[in-house]
Amino acid sequence: MSENMQQLQELDTQLAQSEEELNKINIEVSTLTTQISENEQKLSNAQEKYDKIEVDTNNLQTWERRFFMLLDREYKVPSKTNSKINLKVVPGHFATTSSHINFYMDMTTLKVRQKEAYEVAREMAKEYQYSKPIDTIVCMDGCEIIGACLAEELNKNGIMSLNQHDSLYVITPEFDGNGQMIFRDNLQPMVRGKNILLLLASATTGRTIARSLECIQYYGGIIQGISAIFSAAKEIYGEPVHCIFSTEDLPDYNTFTPSECPHCKNKEKIDAIVNGFGYSEL
Ligand SMILES: [Zn+2]
Repeated sequence: MSENMQQLQELDTQLAQSEEELNKINIEVSTLTTQISENEQKLSNAQEKYDKIEVDTNNLQTWERRFFMLLDREYKVPSKTNSKINLKVVPGHFATTSSHINFYMDMTTLKVRQKEAYEVAREMAKEYQYSKPIDTIVCMDGCEIIGACLAEELNKNGIMSLNQHDSLYVITPEFDGNGQMIFRDNLQPMVRGKNILLLLASATTGRTIARSLECIQYYGGIIQGISAIFSAAKEIYGEPVHCIFSTEDLPDYNTFTPSECPHCKNKEKIDAIVNGFGYSEL
């Protein structure tokens, strides 16, 4: 009997040990399960990232292809008065804020390459010899380098400036969240009661010029001249737009309201959205 009891006790002990081991194994299994599920999550995150990169790469490749296709179509139109000034144009289907156009004009180098900007300024300055006083040049569309060169040329040509120190101001307006052109308090004294030359890269419908003129007049500026690298408009509010290139240099140039654009009616894709600063492809 006592032998049986002893055997039973031994079995009990063994059972307890086995249960303890089973518990340990269960804990290990549960830890492993957690790890597996964590790893699965990581794998799925990585897959998601990979997919996104693949889409980005594809988009980038498409963009690059279309960019080079656009550049392939680019050609140069030389200025009739100065052979050092060339307007780069790309035919296509482009959208500006207010119209659709069939030519994009790339004025980047004319605006930012110092020698080209200087030639542009020299041509522009010819329109202002001795005629009117100019105190401030208001630069739109990233035309600040041309503006600085133009100020230098006007000084050389003996243009009258009513400013103290006999120096011109070259300023850039700001645009608020609604696209309204504004001059901050520190710039306002350079506009109020000053003779203003408005300088911009290109004008298609003339709407941008009209809005800029209204703004300059609102701040008390006196418009003495408008100069653009390209303008389709000959005059705005009775003020002539002096330009180096006009629609005569680009006989096929056309501008349409978006609702009447024949390219849109033909279901042609828009190549890029353009504004005074350049273009962004779609
Ligand atoms: Zn269109």
